[in-house]
Amino acid sequence: MMIGIPREKAAGENRVAIIPPGVTQLLESGYEVIVESGAGLGAHFTDEEYRHCGAIIADDAESLYRQSQVILKVLAPEPDEAALIQPESTLICLLNPWFNRPLLEQLADRSVQAFSLDLVPRTTRAQSMDVLSAMAGISGYRAVLNGAMALPRYFPMLMTAAGTIHPARVLVIGAGVAGLMAIATARRLGAVVEAYDLRPEVKEQVNSLGADFIEIEVPPPTASGSDGYAKAQNAEFYAAQRQQLAECVARADLVVTTAAVPGKPAPKLIDRDMIHRMKSGSVIVDLAADRGGNVEGTVLNRKVDLDGVTVVGHANHPSRVPVHASQLLTRNITAFLLNMTREGALDPDPEDDIVAATRVIHEGRILHDQEPAGTV
Ligand code: NAD
Repeated sequence: MMIGIPREKAAGENRVAIIPPGVTQLLESGYEVIVESGAGLGAHFTDEEYRHCGAIIADDAESLYRQSQVILKVLAPEPDEAALIQPESTLICLLNPWFNRPLLEQLADRSVQAFSLDLVPRTTRAQSMDVLSAMAGISGYRAVLNGAMALPRYFPMLMTAAGTIHPARVLVIGAGVAGLMAIATARRLGAVVEAYDLRPEVKEQVNSLGADFIEIEVPPPTASGSDGYAKAQNAEFYAAQRQQLAECVARADLVVTTAAVPGKPAPKLIDRDMIHRMKSGSVIVDLAADRGGNVEGTVLNRKVDLDGVTVVGHANHPSRVPVHASQLLTRNITAFLLNMTREGALDPDPEDDIVAATRVIHEGRILHDQEPAGTV
């Protein structure tokens, strides 16, 4: 069975789904591997390295898709790429199924079987396949580095002959995987860190990283679901939350926001009034920029000045660490594929909870129930 690794076509995307050592593992598992010429260049892997590990190199996307029965990608394909995927073949990538219905329909019409890595359950057994966690860790790390570079101050406390520098104050809102990495990175750089999350159960993790957990007085009616994800709340809750967080936001030099609810636009946690109360020169890094942003005034992929506060809305931070992002993706995607491999061929077990959770198209039918992307 031939596995195809295409070059990612999205603007600014430097990652690749499988790096050369991953090819060796796929070959040992009984697959053949074809890689589109230049697929690894954004992550600094050459065609020669892929060849050395046993891959065939395809000159272009047409040739790659024509020969592949399984496609391993990072991001969802564009419509022209999806049109090249062979009927009855299988696509595995971050499909973002809540927001990509037309693509799902196009793939279903072509009888392409599709698995969405966004839907890998956050369970112990699926940990090695957890692409979202691997990428969120990079985002949290990069958010703090971006914030530190945009801040017109030092991060650490310094006692110098020219006087004492007080440490930067960092506030992290949303202490999931990205938020916890942001806390750890800011602490390593010497900042004083506070953090808040809708889910009170993360308090212990926040404290264990040396940060203070902020508790506010309006408990949400439903903090999280059985899947561990936060639930969307009503407008009154978000208004109360903004009111109570305003003080903490105002005293921070850097705020990193990471709050997300799967399948929904990002909740608005910081409004213009709150920004207005921040010190001039403060920075906000909005990691939810690609889902509409946690901050009123975030501009996707831009750094904007709002009342003297820099708001950074860069998306796809993992693509800016493409070597390690691709290395982690290789481990995740290979583990995911091998979980569905029997005797050197793809043979998903419908009884397997990971297969059931991630298979979004099977035998021409869309299995993913699209939740309405309501306002939160
Ligand atoms: P995410 O990216 O979906 O959301 C980021 C954070 O934002 C979450 O912590 C969420 O609670 C928070 N949030 C949402 N709305 C908020 C609001 N209004 N105010 C403040 N915070 C808000 O989260 P994630 O990092 O992908 O983690 C999701 C869940 O999966 C968590 O329960 C996490 O512990 C769990 N998880 C489990 C495993 C595992 O067991 N293998 C691995 C990774 C994550």
